[in-house]
Amino acid sequence: MELYKFHVFLSMVAVLFLFPVVHGWGLDGHYTVCKIAQSRLSKAAADAVEKLLPTSANGDLASVCIWADRVKFHYHWSSPLHYIDTPDNLCNYQYKRDCKDEDGVEDRCVAGAIYNYTNQLLSYNKGNDHVSTYNLTESLLFLSHFFGDIHQPLHVGFTSDRGGNTIDVHWYTRKTVLHHVWDSNIIETVEERYDDSNVDELVDAIQKNITTGWADQVNSWENCSGNKTACPDIYASEGIKAACDWAYIGVSEGSTLEDDYFLSRYPIVLWRLAQGGVRLAATLNRIFK
Ligand SMILES: [Zn+2]
Repeated sequence: MELYKFHVFLSMVAVLFLFPVVHGWGLDGHYTVCKIAQSRLSKAAADAVEKLLPTSANGDLASVCIWADRVKFHYHWSSPLHYIDTPDNLCNYQYKRDCKDEDGVEDRCVAGAIYNYTNQLLSYNKGNDHVSTYNLTESLLFLSHFFGDIHQPLHVGFTSDRGGNTIDVHWYTRKTVLHHVWDSNIIETVEERYDDSNVDELVDAIQKNITTGWADQVNSWENCSGNKTACPDIYASEGIKAACDWAYIGVSEGSTLEDDYFLSRYPIVLWRLAQGGVRLAATLNRIFK
């Protein structure tokens, strides 16, 4: 590599490290959900996904799963679609009560977004001569991303602490906020300790659990009763429950979180990543029948 190019390369690397994009699961969480999902698609769904993916993705949904976070600043309207604020300390979720943005506009939350993008993608089935009014590539990327977000427990969190974003903690020796612990720190520590710091090894480990330890749960994860195509309200209800039972509990402003917290919480994170992937696949399989 020429010296000049090498310098440009180095400064690009520096920029990546200085400004990590961390909203919703971090990069590796979203990657994991989409990697698991794409491996479980029916032939029809796999074909549709391949047709809709941008060419830059090279057929790999996981490589563009973080896209919705990257466009947040460009698509300002999409920011509230990544999460749900529920009333403090109630530990439950109701669509009608909670699925709105800060201005009170209904349906603007991650569950509403999942319904919306599912409906948009259903227009794909109308065939080639039907021109969809939607950009279905973007619909697919939004839907895939939001399946990740809704499974991050603190994306269905309390209103006043913005899903743990205002709770300062230490992750071992590093200063961070509770929300970020669940987006990224737990996953990074799992990768460092058990997966050779390699996200594909993490994906493999979760895939193994899906076919062994969790095999008897998978059917119920996929289930979406009453002939519905998407079931985000179930995931959101589970999310705020997990937030109360695992994320918030025992944590206060300034807490130091280390092995006690990590060892008891990381199985929940892996379990939610697995559910997100399995359910995204099941939903895409229902959409592209
Ligand atoms: Zn997000």
